[in-house]
Amino acid sequence: MKHIVVTGAAGFLGSHLVKSLIQQGHRVTGIDNLSTGVSQNLREVINNPLFQFCKDDVTQASSLEILDQQTVDEVYHLASPASPKFYQADAFGTIWVNTQGTYNLLELAHKKGAKLVYASTSEAYGDPEVHPQPETYKGSVNTWGPRACYDEAKRLGEVICYEYFTKQQVKVKVARIFNTYSAGLRNDDGRVISNFVTQALTGEDITVYGDGSQTRSFCYVDDNIRGLQLLMASEKANGQIVNIGNPKEYTILELAHLIKDLTQSNSNVTFSPLPEDDPKVRRPVIDKAKDLLGWEPEVNLDHGLRLTIENYRESLLETQFE
Ligand code: NAD
Ligand code: UDP
Repeated sequence: MKHIVVTGAAGFLGSHLVKSLIQQGHRVTGIDNLSTGVSQNLREVINNPLFQFCKDDVTQASSLEILDQQTVDEVYHLASPASPKFYQADAFGTIWVNTQGTYNLLELAHKKGAKLVYASTSEAYGDPEVHPQPETYKGSVNTWGPRACYDEAKRLGEVICYEYFTKQQVKVKVARIFNTYSAGLRNDDGRVISNFVTQALTGEDITVYGDGSQTRSFCYVDDNIRGLQLLMASEKANGQIVNIGNPKEYTILELAHLIKDLTQSNSNVTFSPLPEDDPKVRRPVIDKAKDLLGWEPEVNLDHGLRLTIENYRESLLETQFE
């Protein structure tokens, strides 16, 4: 049994990861300040003796003092707002959790001799001029815009990982995560799949930004969580940056119509201005993940959306009767 620390444990990805690690029989400490995450995400594990939850802010080194007397084998640093709506509302929180927070977690990993996976992002490529994006592409990021607090903080987080890998020999691995979805994203999260599914199920307008020709590549959460764990396990991945995403690409307009069809919704599809610096295309090259980890996604968008829609439908019904 390992002792594994997960930051951002009450968030979308963190809560799925915690459940998977506990199911495998590991002891997990989850740390989260509940800024965008909700404790409801952890209801299945909160009373499990293998799980301890600490409501705290990982930008404060004191948040890790509870681990002083404990061995730690692995650290997943997932804490950070991820939806543009939330990271733009808390730009400095986003900057500190990915810089000071990453530093604090790397210090912990260094002291404990633990491995660390850092959740970086496809946003490290910005509005890419190379398509699709391999890890070797250095990106096209604007420092002077509403997305910069997230994109540049993640890039600096990667730099801090590099320093700890090269100077302190911490076994660190960076996951550049591409758009990931499933049930568990809050209805008000603001990200596209949560918005479109909620809108389609409640009969509201489906709000396409711009003309919907911008593209994204959507990865189902189970594939992502499997990828992160393989990354942690791989010795060959120490000191490596690896794309974790689904290489099948869709326009946002295609996504809107797919969700409208799958929900059999009467919602109208409406168009509003494209937010500033919204990337026009995004698709991962996943050759490195295939080579290093033997990983590739297994769940296609149609199937993943059906599972997601079913779950949103049930939770919307539950809230109606509460
Ligand atoms: P999320 O917002 O659902 O979860 C993030 C969690 O971090 C929340 O529970 C939040 O309360 C917590 N948190 C934020 N600041 C904190 C702090 N200072 N101290 C402690 N906890 C803090 O987001 P998510 O989708 O689960 O994303 C998880 C990670 O994966 C993030 O680092 C994100 O940047 C990265 N990522 C996610 C995606 C995706 O599509 N979901 C894509 C790229 C990268
Ligand atoms: N988007 C949209 N309507 C929405 C929410 C998002 O058209 O209600 C678009 C957004 O402009 C972007 C894409 O969907 O082009 C993905 O947005 P999201 O916020 O999910 O993630 P991003 O990849 O931009 O970080």
